[in-house]
Amino acid sequence: MGSRGREIVGMNVDELVMMLRKAYCDEWLAYYQYWVGAKVVKGPMKEAAIAELTQHATEELMHADMVALRIIQLGGVPVTKPEDWYKLTNCGYDAPDDPFIKKILQQNIAGEQCAISTYKKMLELTKDKDQVTYNMVLTILQQEVEHEEDLQALLEDFDLMMAAMKGA
Ligand code: MG
Ligand code: FE
Ligand code: FE
Repeated sequence: MGSRGREIVGMNVDELVMMLRKAYCDEWLAYYQYWVGAKVVKGPMKEAAIAELTQHATEELMHADMVALRIIQLGGVPVTKPEDWYKLTNCGYDAPDDPFIKKILQQNIAGEQCAISTYKKMLELTKDKDQVTYNMVLTILQQEVEHEEDLQALLEDFDLMMAAMKGA
């Protein structure tokens, strides 16, 4: 733990760490939802979906890494037991038990929307108080916004393709 780095935080560090630990659980669950979703997904445009889901899985894992490092910098401990991910998560886990591409895209869009709301809140809470966390949260938020758009664009293409097939 960096003592001066901890001193400059203008907010309750324990509360900040708790907030980050919750986000850390979200990232692992998001990672796994994407990762396993990419394995089971079925239907038209499957290849494009696999590429996007796999890329997002990698990025969620990077987010978990960033959040873990910040927790440690602040003198906290990242969540050490996967069973606690479910207890602490903000956004939960939506199992891709229906492998249909449209369903999987919708589930992950909902997950991204929850992530966007969660990080937006964290951004407001850390603004002018902890610039280091603020900056990290902003970087992650930018990627979650990108993720949502990627999936919505994919879903739009899927719907257009299905409509075209019906019309033919
Ligand atoms: Mg992407
Ligand atoms: Fe993420
Ligand atoms: Fe994301």
